[in-house]
Amino acid sequence: MKCPYCGEEMEKGAIEGYRIPVTWVSDKRIENKLLPLHKTIKLSSFSGGGEVKTWHCEKCRKFIIDEDDL
Ligand SMILES: [Zn+2]
Repeated sequence: MKCPYCGEEMEKGAIEGYRIPVTWVSDKRIENKLLPLHKTIKLSSFSGGGEVKTWHCEKCRKFIIDEDDL
């Protein structure tokens, strides 16, 4: 995958979870715990924490996660 910021090839890897699923949480949800849980996106499975396939650009210091890889 090409980095959308600099156009160079990105390195493929994974963010590894431990025991609990890796989950994206909206800032709105973090600031207000009473908001419904649909403001979160589970990035890995419950079993063993799982891993999230991730592309990394070292030059731009960016990570990209494709929802289709979840
Ligand atoms: Zn880049």
